[in-house]
Amino acid sequence: MKPAIADGHAVTIHYRLTLDDGSIADESFGSDPLVYLHGAQNIVPGLERQLEGKKVGDTCDCEVPANEGYGEYDPTAEQTVPKTAFPPNVELQVGMSFQTRGRNGQPQPVWIRALDGDNVVVSANHPLAGQRLNFKIEVVDVRKATAEEKKHGHVHGPGGHHH
Ligand code: ZN
Repeated sequence: MKPAIADGHAVTIHYRLTLDDGSIADESFGSDPLVYLHGAQNIVPGLERQLEGKKVGDTCDCEVPANEGYGEYDPTAEQTVPKTAFPPNVELQVGMSFQTRGRNGQPQPVWIRALDGDNVVVSANHPLAGQRLNFKIEVVDVRKATAEEKKHGHVHGPGGHHH
């Protein structure tokens, strides 16, 4: 008898993430399932909460609002810079991501939200910030995590971390 999903369990799921415009942002159906450690914030909080108590074979159409997903969109995390700030040999495209330096010199991942004439709007928000996340989930496996996995905060072995 496999345990129900609870904190400290290694959980294997298949998922499909659909956005409100109908586009599929990501999915595991047809390839390797996702393995995560429940209760360790490996997945967005709204999904983790809704999967609590589910068992192997259970399915879920889990709707996760932005504030329990990748956060609300923060317009102050957006910046408009001239195209000339980029190397001339780079063909700029919406959605392109790259690394810049934050205020304190720390590496900061950003992506291009819009191209506007001679200007480029770059965003430090998560690309899915502000979006409602519509997950279709199938629970494939649940097992107790090992002490080492709990200590590391992630799952080891097939589908997990190798180190
Ligand atoms: Zn580890």
